[in-house]
Amino acid sequence: PEEYTTQGSLTLGDVFIAVKTTKRFHQSRMELLLDTWITRAREQTYVFTDEEDDALKRRMGDHVVFTNCSTEHSHPALSCKMAAEFDAFLASGRSWFCHLDDDNYLNPQALLQLLSSYSPTRDVYLGKPSLNRPIRASETLTNNQTKSVHFWFATGGAGFCISRKLASKMVPWASGRNFLKTSELIRLPDDCTMGYIIECKVGGQLLPNALFHSHLENLQLIPTSRLTQQVTLSYGVFENKLNVIELSGPFSLQEDPSRFRSLHCHLYPDTSWCLQAAGW
Ligand code: UDP
Ligand code: MN
Repeated sequence: PEEYTTQGSLTLGDVFIAVKTTKRFHQSRMELLLDTWITRAREQTYVFTDEEDDALKRRMGDHVVFTNCSTEHSHPALSCKMAAEFDAFLASGRSWFCHLDDDNYLNPQALLQLLSSYSPTRDVYLGKPSLNRPIRASETLTNNQTKSVHFWFATGGAGFCISRKLASKMVPWASGRNFLKTSELIRLPDDCTMGYIIECKVGGQLLPNALFHSHLENLQLIPTSRLTQQVTLSYGVFENKLNVIELSGPFSLQEDPSRFRSLHCHLYPDTSWCLQAAGW
């Protein structure tokens, strides 16, 4: 039987979680997520990638979606994946769409806590603003003239969520091939395109939320005592230095360079491999 974590009346079963990845990160990044937070949100997590992989399929079954998107790190390739995520969400019938990168740790409990204070029948767009001001872009109009637009967007690398009500209004710009066409109008990445559709096309607005984190911010600044409340975390390189959360164990920096295994043990200390690592 399905076991969902309940938070008020909202359950994880109401959320569609999409993780974007690419062939070269299946081992180095996806394995880590599958060992950690995805174990706590298996039924609602879908991975969108660009190449068939039997090992990933064995671990995820029909929760891995092999898109026909290119493996390039180009705007069209990334927009193609975002469109696939968005369409799968629409088809799922669930109330909330949340996008993550493959270097994000998601805390499903904290996510539920956050989402339960909003209604999916309202226009809701939650995430971390990439910049401290709206981005300016030049939109190509049908007559080939251009128009200056500005809008806020949630950085894709910190994860973001959209309510079903808002998503349904976005369909003419965001579903199927429309997403790619829209991103070509402003020639910006997929996460910017989401913000553009929401703020310039359907009249929504980003609700900035400090519980989403990417590796573009200094992750060391998050107090260890606050880690359990964060919705997303990340790891990576920032200003030429390894940028990870501050957590002393149970795994060493060598064993767990991302700190995600240690974080998982911090959140779920009864996990079998956490007890072993702690020397039980
Ligand atoms: N990614 C992708 N195709 C690529 C490169 C990256 O789908 O060719 C995905 C990657 O799996 C991750 C996201 O795009 O989910 C961001 O990539 P990365 O963390 O490497 O770059 P960043 O933009 O954070 O520096
Ligand atoms: Mn990244």
